[in-house]
Amino acid sequence: MQGRYVRARVWHHFIGAMRDAGQIFFNTPRILRVRAAVHTPGFCLGLIALGLAVITAASHGLAVTRAMMFPGYPYARRLVLISEGVLLSERRAVPRPLLDFWKRNSATLAGVAGYQWVSRGTARVTPDFFEVLGARPHSFLLRRIDRWLPSSGQGEFAVLGRLKPGVTPAGAQSELRDLAFRYLDQPPSPSQQVQVVPLLARIRKPLYAYAVICIVTSALLLAAAGLGMRADRRRLGRIRGRYWAYFCAKSLSLPLALALVIWEFSRATSFTLTGGATFVAEPFFVWLVILACGAIVWWCLADQRARCRACLRTLQYPVRIGSRGAVLFDHAGTELMCCEGHGSLYLPAVSSDYVQRGGWTALDADIASDPVPR
Ligand SMILES: [Zn+2]
Repeated sequence: MQGRYVRARVWHHFIGAMRDAGQIFFNTPRILRVRAAVHTPGFCLGLIALGLAVITAASHGLAVTRAMMFPGYPYARRLVLISEGVLLSERRAVPRPLLDFWKRNSATLAGVAGYQWVSRGTARVTPDFFEVLGARPHSFLLRRIDRWLPSSGQGEFAVLGRLKPGVTPAGAQSELRDLAFRYLDQPPSPSQQVQVVPLLARIRKPLYAYAVICIVTSALLLAAAGLGMRADRRRLGRIRGRYWAYFCAKSLSLPLALALVIWEFSRATSFTLTGGATFVAEPFFVWLVILACGAIVWWCLADQRARCRACLRTLQYPVRIGSRGAVLFDHAGTELMCCEGHGSLYLPAVSSDYVQRGGWTALDADIASDPVPR
């Protein structure tokens, strides 16, 4: 019994000593300086810049995004993907004899070639593949290919074609459907309908789709900055330049980082052999992206509100004012201070602007640094 009591006392003193040691450590000037630096705007922007640098390094210098923007094929606008099937999701490869039949008889295509995926980073291609493509690239359909092997001859191939100048994909599609009819000697079944899709449009689809969502997010935040600057001019007669420049830097860099993460690391930019989407959960993913955009908007506004209007440090020393039970009749809220003494911010407990407006009160330091009288 006494042994247990002694052990408990020893533990109690031990934990107390560790807590004291921790407190002394965290109050040393160097640690205090680091803790103060966390509240500066430079720390926040530095973290975002670090995130962008990590994304760039981890994605081999934004390989997928560059491949979508600049595919690097000389005839990129005339290249098409050819497959069979009705829906985008069930497009199938084409048997080799049909591919050769098209090659011999097509009048709208300047070249036709087939390709197959073998494993990660390896593809098999027919001999004239690079002639049709016009280059020997390190990636195809946004998939990294390190080894190009000659095809063994038989099997099913996904087909790459190059249109003759002036021919539209629709024109080539109707010609190839007629040729398939001649080849089969009977009307092709719906699952054998030939589909011709422009290669450039296919690989740029995820680029445009997610760019639109992220641009809308940035535009919303920039519109909020515009409203804030207009209010500044009305109340102060001038615009707080640094305050809004910081907000605009956040509103542009965070959606950009989100878009790069989607393009480089998600399955939104991976395709099947014939250019179909591999991503079965696409609607759910888009919903998640929209949710992330909402989180960016919320965080940018919340972070901006809790920053000093003069030095942009996050405000501290929260003081609760008033009684929460009587918010309709009395002031109730929290007041935050800038640790440099530039001013205080009042945040009402009920965030209805009809009752009380929250607001920033500049103190002497702000007026001293502000040559324009308010
Ligand atoms: Zn301040």
